[in-house]
Amino acid sequence: MSLYEIPITTIKGIGEKKAVLFKKLGVGSVGDLISYYPRAYDNWAAVTPIADLQSGDRVVIKARLAAAVSTTRISGGRFISRASVCDDSGYLNLVFFNNRYIDSMLRCGEEYCFMGKVQRDKYGLQMISPEFTSPKTGDDITPVYNLTAGLNNRVVMKAVKEALSMLPEVIRDPIPEDILERYGLCPLGFALRNIHFPSDTDAMEQARRRLIFEELLVLNLGMRLLKSRSRQHTSVRMPADHTQEFIARLPFELTGAQKRAVVDCVNDMKNKTSPMNRLIQGDVGSGKTAVCAAVCYHCVKNGYQAAFMAPTEILAQQHFETFSRMFDGTGVRIELLTGSMTPANKRKARERIEAGESDIVIGTHTLVSESTVFAKLGCAITDEQHRFGVAQRSRLAAKGEHPHILVLSATPIPRTLGLIIYGDLDITVIDELPPGRTEVQTLYITSEKRNRALAFIRKQVDEGRQAYIVCPLVEEGDDADLQSANDYAAELMLGAFRNYPVGILHGKMKPRDKEAVMAQFSKNEISILVSTTVVEVGVDVKNATVMMIENAERFGLSTLHQLRGRVGRGAYKSYCILVSDHTGDNTEQRLSTMCRTNNGFEIADMDLKLRGPGDFFGNRQHGLPQLAIADFSDTQTLAQSQEAAEHLLDVSPDLSDDETRALRAEVRRLFSTTGETLN
Ligand code: ADP
Ligand code: MG
Repeated sequence: MSLYEIPITTIKGIGEKKAVLFKKLGVGSVGDLISYYPRAYDNWAAVTPIADLQSGDRVVIKARLAAAVSTTRISGGRFISRASVCDDSGYLNLVFFNNRYIDSMLRCGEEYCFMGKVQRDKYGLQMISPEFTSPKTGDDITPVYNLTAGLNNRVVMKAVKEALSMLPEVIRDPIPEDILERYGLCPLGFALRNIHFPSDTDAMEQARRRLIFEELLVLNLGMRLLKSRSRQHTSVRMPADHTQEFIARLPFELTGAQKRAVVDCVNDMKNKTSPMNRLIQGDVGSGKTAVCAAVCYHCVKNGYQAAFMAPTEILAQQHFETFSRMFDGTGVRIELLTGSMTPANKRKARERIEAGESDIVIGTHTLVSESTVFAKLGCAITDEQHRFGVAQRSRLAAKGEHPHILVLSATPIPRTLGLIIYGDLDITVIDELPPGRTEVQTLYITSEKRNRALAFIRKQVDEGRQAYIVCPLVEEGDDADLQSANDYAAELMLGAFRNYPVGILHGKMKPRDKEAVMAQFSKNEISILVSTTVVEVGVDVKNATVMMIENAERFGLSTLHQLRGRVGRGAYKSYCILVSDHTGDNTEQRLSTMCRTNNGFEIADMDLKLRGPGDFFGNRQHGLPQLAIADFSDTQTLAQSQEAAEHLLDVSPDLSDDETRALRAEVRRLFSTTGETLN
């Protein structure tokens, strides 16, 4: 029986109540507990002399109790204990609250290690409620776990210790022997014991490296299995380059980066037997749409149809309008196909697509439904691809006779992560913005200054500009979206924007109504658009100069960057105002990062670092599972795990032989949370 099938309630000291708390941490079984790796470690051996302490530091001191602990009662039946300790360099006061046993635990004249935060008050420096241990215990490095209210570190530590004792003497290692050897990895049992209770720093490093390697290896194998589609043959050839005549028609000169992207695509589709499989990565506003339009034109002029899939109705609609304008007078027939169209209109559109009477089809995921049949699909493009799961993407690729595939992403993905997620894609980076853009100035304020921000928005609107306001999320739940948008907009309409046209956009609206509101905003019939995050992707209104985001702390950096990308798209100086009163969870660090840089790649790196890859995209749709330990900054381990994955799949493409069967089980377990099925 697997330890993942043994509930944690079998562990001594964990009853139903504690089990509920552990469940909150995602730990339900003994196996889960063993893979609940520490967030950090406390190193009791790194001792600081008392004379060197600074207020605010979290430190370990090794000191002798200079006098017996004295306890006094304070209001409410609580009490406070004080102790004075000293080392060779000086004295320090310790303070404990409501700990009845403290005087029996600490003996005058004895030496202890104390760990805690040092703070200065009117009596000088003191350490508040430190943890302590005898210097002789030998456990220098202790684990620090992520906790939830009601569970303290000590309880988790004890439970983990107990769980580890349930491991069999000899643990079957899913990683084949020769791979362990080749990369100098320690055995699984050693890794599991030392990741939690390392005997020394070296053992901890070894354990970490081994577990990171394993998780990356399993992730790699899973992603590769998921897209075993990889390189098929295609008969779709586009020998003649028609892009120049299209580019010449555009109202602007393409940037160098845009031109390079077009050339890459044309080369990919030329006379090769394998289809194009390319990702274009370009920051918001870098002009990916124009590149796609050129690719679509090229495709049509070579006698094929092109499909362009967008993640939302609004975006599909907007691309449809942009394309209709760009292709005006070329004779190319553009078709829109979205979920909100009437069944009759959808049917008619599909008939034209199947009959080859539409050249470029723009739509939402409706495009990939089975009933859409293309007469002669040459190229399938997916916009804002991180919004789609791996499965949806490959369904579009399955239309037609292995069409060329192009995916666009405005979420700059750190290269390391990109290698895993898009292992089989070629990548073009558009690293240049169209000329004339000014950087969006970002301000981070607390709600105290909201009125000033609103006054600033009024001023901008008076000058003819427009603003987006992403409303606060008032409550959780199904209708929260609607409630918060409506209430907040009402407040603004009655207050700060009494005399201004305010529009509302939220996820619960009918697609047609959303489009109507967006259309009004585009025409500047609405000055201030209050919305939930539905404005996040893609929309393009050049006259909008302010993006104000309430409760900015609830968004990941990448989402904030996307939202900010809605402004600064024209020639006007633009502003992004982040409102948050939240402290903790790195909020200050995250929001300050937004103020510091407009560089999407830098933001993506920071986002990945702060949130971990599992939350990186803000949802699970990308098909990337929640990871326990993997660290993408360790590029060497990353590269090695990739090499190992390739090697293993070369030997056994479906991981079915004796050596690799255990790894396959690990892959299945890791991906079980993503909704992707791996058999
Ligand atoms: P994204 O890469 O975020 O999808 P878009 O394709 O929506 O960006 O382009 C952003 C805006 O920049 C659009 O209004 C588009 O017309 C404009 N644009 C694109 N390329 C250029 C260019 N080379 N010169 C000037 N403006 C451009
Ligand atoms: Mg776009």
